[in-house]
Amino acid sequence: VRSISRTAGKMGIECVVENHYGASESALADRLLALSGDPAVHGIICQTPLPNGMTLESLGTYIAPAKDVDGANFASLGGVAAGLDSFAPATAAAVLEILSHEKIELSGARAVVVGRSNVVGKPAALLLLAQNATVTVCHSRTTGLEAVCATADILVAAVGRPELLNAGHIKQGAVVIDVGTNPTADGALVGDVDADSARSKASALTPVPGGVGPVTSMLLMRNTIRAARKSGSAPQ
Ligand code: NAP
Repeated sequence: VRSISRTAGKMGIECVVENHYGASESALADRLLALSGDPAVHGIICQTPLPNGMTLESLGTYIAPAKDVDGANFASLGGVAAGLDSFAPATAAAVLEILSHEKIELSGARAVVVGRSNVVGKPAALLLLAQNATVTVCHSRTTGLEAVCATADILVAAVGRPELLNAGHIKQGAVVIDVGTNPTADGALVGDVDADSARSKASALTPVPGGVGPVTSMLLMRNTIRAARKSGSAPQ
């Protein structure tokens, strides 16, 4: 949240952080509906984890798709699946943005995504598929994870398990995108990939911190500007 606010400030986008900890689900739903109907608001992000057993899957439905800049509403994810112009979750979009920026060939490439959450793994897999990669999605019940990962030209780690993947999971020369941000006991962050081990095999590896995270913040801003333009309240 700090990073998003900082990025918004730098870009001249007014970012208001509301803390609703302790609110009921219906109160939160009402607030999201009110923001969805407020013409002064162009983008709405509902940050997880949510308290009291609430899920983004249920709350996301109260965010208007036109303002759903972090792709939390199922309608947005459905649009991504159908190849329509809807907002993808920004973290998943950041994976594709980095690959595109680095001119990594996706068409025909074998991509393995480890993680199938609605906010990262699943949309990242759909976006890779839309770019004509051949995509495999792994999860906690996948058998032979190491061997499956080692088939990947592009390996995306979105697991939430510190340094789960290492050189053994990586094909020589593969491109590795580490989405994981796992806090350590001393307050640092480590990824889902053991970077020291992975470097011996990977041709490129995103750092943690400083890789997917900052790109995600920038994409939230880009989506907000797109939403404002579409609403007609910002210059094209
Ligand atoms: P999540 O909802 O907890 O999903 C984790 C996924 O990993 C699940 O699909 C789970 O499988 C799978 N998994 C767990 N343990 C596994 C194992 N041992 N082997 C294979 N798969 C396993 O997490 P998330 O929200 O997608 O986030 C993933 C990571 O990305 C976290 O570290 C999070 O902090 C980070 N993240 C970073 C950003 C950013 O901007 N950089 C943004 C969002 C998230 P099942 O489905 O079978 O349970």
